[in-house]
Amino acid sequence: MPRYDYRCRACGATFELTRPMSESSDPAPCPQGHEDSVKLLSTVGLTGAAAAPAGGGGGCCGGGCCS
Ligand SMILES: [Zn+2]
Repeated sequence: MPRYDYRCRACGATFELTRPMSESSDPAPCPQGHEDSVKLLSTVGLTGAAAAPAGGGGGCCGGGCCS
């Protein structure tokens, strides 16, 4: 299940929630109970895009021949 980062606009706290993608835009109350939060850029999307090219490097494992 993807993980999303949120920031509370009431107290400024940042927190993470693991929830279905279909609920990623739903209101996410912060640990303090405030509901005025905004979703930050998805860490899943960022790491997923960056991990693929950085993990290969040698060329062999990038082609799938190591599996
Ligand atoms: Zn808050």
